[in-house]
Amino acid sequence: MNQIGFQIEHCRSNCSKSACEWNGLLEALRSKLVDLKINETLEQKFHPILHHHLPKIGLAGCPNGCSQPDIKDFSISGYVNPLITDAPCLQCEVCVRSCLEGAISLQPKGISIDKDRCLSCGNCQRVCPSGTLTRGESGWILRLGGRVGRHPRFATFIGKVSTIDEVVQWVYKTILDYMENSEAQERLTHFLERKTISV
Ligand code: SF4
Ligand code: SF4
Ligand code: SF4
Repeated sequence: MNQIGFQIEHCRSNCSKSACEWNGLLEALRSKLVDLKINETLEQKFHPILHHHLPKIGLAGCPNGCSQPDIKDFSISGYVNPLITDAPCLQCEVCVRSCLEGAISLQPKGISIDKDRCLSCGNCQRVCPSGTLTRGESGWILRLGGRVGRHPRFATFIGKVSTIDEVVQWVYKTILDYMENSEAQERLTHFLERKTISV
């Protein structure tokens, strides 16, 4: 049984594709969630506490999702939007080739980005040699209620936030809500499913 009452699966260290620095968020989550004493509280509530009562969190530095966040109770993925600046474009098309979504095209007046296709992964911003493309707004995409098993489901999109504190508060309050308001023997995933149906 997990002794600290939660699991966090995260990216490999020093991945060059990370859209957001996630180590600080990992430490902040660990530190804050320990305060909840999840194991002790759920042990009293459910006795015995079982694996499916414990929160699973997937933390990914970019939309590639190597830590499989979208099949976890809490899905957290870093994103960074591309920003087109006034720096002259060299028309090299490196950004076009870097975009796995086919979201960038070269037009007579410069590059164009299809926002509906863009996943805000950051690839194009890292390779542009001129600074025409650079980092824009960044933050974290939050999803809730993913799972595998007999009735698998992907986590439901909740929203985007820009700071680590907002992510930590969201996870903390949702787990607290579960500890205080779940029904008898209710699994965390079913509690979260109830919460996300109306989103
Ligand atoms: S999710 Fe992105 S940042 Fe994390 S390991 Fe995969 S490619 Fe790297
Ligand atoms: S951020 Fe990623 S998906 Fe969006 S345009 Fe750049 S390379 Fe393509
Ligand atoms: S935006 Fe940058 S990478 Fe893209 S074509 Fe222009 S100079 Fe090249």
